[in-house]
Amino acid sequence: MSSSRIVPIRPHEGHITHDALEQYAFKQLSETEIDLIEEHLLVCEYCRGTFDFVEEEIRLLREALRLSELERKREVAQQRCGQLLRDETT
Ligand SMILES: [Zn+2]
Repeated sequence: MSSSRIVPIRPHEGHITHDALEQYAFKQLSETEIDLIEEHLLVCEYCRGTFDFVEEEIRLLREALRLSELERKREVAQQRCGQLLRDETT
């Protein structure tokens, strides 16, 4: 297995795949691949649209992660408070 990742650009359509754009957004690609994608985004409105969509997805994902993290912290804090209250009453 080669360690270099190949951007799965759809050759027949000449567009960048959703997966590749996701990897690009997460900076998981090589410089060559990034160059390739950036060059394509400059000239292709279709892929810019897809990329906007990918970025929005990532934004929502991060937001969801942040909220679940807050929720988790809140639960831990509540448990601690409950513990303290129980300790006080005993
Ligand atoms: Zn394209």
